Amino acid sequence: MKAWTHFFRVVILKFAYPLLMFLGTFLKTKKTDFQAYIVTLNNLIVMRDNINVNKILVLLPHCIQNSKCDVRLTFDVFKCRRCGQCKIKDLIELTEKYGVSIAIATGGTIARKVVKEVKPDAIVAVACERDLSSGIVDTYPIPVLGILNERPFGPCIDTTVSLQKVEEALIWFINHQDRKH
Ligand code: SF4
Repeated sequence: MKAWTHFFRVVILKFAYPLLMFLGTFLKTKKTDFQAYIVTLNNLIVMRDNINVNKILVLLPHCIQNSKCDVRLTFDVFKCRRCGQCKIKDLIELTEKYGVSIAIATGGTIARKVVKEVKPDAIVAVACERDLSSGIVDTYPIPVLGILNERPFGPCIDTTVSLQKVEEALIWFINHQDRKH
């Protein structure tokens, strides 16, 4: 990790983030924008870092699963029957293609538990502005590339994500595997 990226991530995640969240309690309409701004800034800095990645985790929100699907995926995403009714099938196949880990988290507590168990060197995380920004702060100093989910049916139900963006983030980390400094 470069010293300047470490410094700026600390400034953004440990100082700017709580400050913006505090401001967001007064400027409620701006809070989501502040969270998205934190995610964007974090991604920009992570992608300028010099990191050595061996184990990558793709961490997904529960709301990406089709709301009519009765399979319980929280503890084992591979229980998915791959019917194609939601992006879980494609995301599993993407992680299989690149040989990386994948998990679903129903909230911050489960996400922290997954990270503790998998012990990734890097995370590609998909979530809404709120969960993504707080998750990036929680998992610091692990480098996280955050990808905002898409919400065609509103928040927290049948959300989706750009597979291309997830794949690009994975490729970026994979290109940094075992890099000697
Ligand atoms: S792809 Fe998997 S998670 Fe999505 S609806 Fe089908 S079985 Fe359920």
